[in-house]
Amino acid sequence: MTTVTVNIDEKLFQNRYRVDVGRPHVHIKNPDICVNDCTDKSCTFVCPACCYRNENNGSVTLITDGCLECGSCRILCTEHHNLSWEYPRGGHGIQFKFG
Ligand code: SF4
Ligand code: SF4
Repeated sequence: MTTVTVNIDEKLFQNRYRVDVGRPHVHIKNPDICVNDCTDKSCTFVCPACCYRNENNGSVTLITDGCLECGSCRILCTEHHNLSWEYPRGGHGIQFKFG
């Protein structure tokens, strides 16, 4: 049996991302909810593209550049319903390279 090693960072680097400047497709609706009501802040450790950052003061910073459109954050935030999530406009966002 042959063992194949896959480097995820190298694979992700093959993709290209076209930023829709000034129009991020995911928003945190109310940043205060992240600070005061969300104890686990799961978005900050499940995002495969590391779009969310847990700041020292308890707030969460979201930068959608590089988002893989996997939807994980959208599902995990259902307890607080604090994300506005839509696909990027046509021609923007992730462009996957397969193979
Ligand atoms: S899971 Fe939702 S409420 Fe919690 S920190 Fe992330 S965006 Fe905020
Ligand atoms: S959709 Fe996926 S890649 Fe994009 S911000 Fe949410 S968890 Fe991260």
